[in-house]
Amino acid sequence: MPAKDATTCNYCQSLRDKLARAEQERDASAALDCRVLLTRHEGQGHPLAPQTES
Ligand SMILES: [Zn+2]
Repeated sequence: MPAKDATTCNYCQSLRDKLARAEQERDASAALDCRVLLTRHEGQGHPLAPQTES
């Protein structure tokens, strides 16, 4: 669980929504994906568009 949840944006919210749904469905790989994306996105200071690395 994150200690604080002060900073958020639409992309964060959509990821958290996805994460919650994945956890409800016990979809571990989807939940992990969401966590990775969310962590990266927050680490980048909430860029407006999702950053994808290939
Ligand atoms: Zn964000």
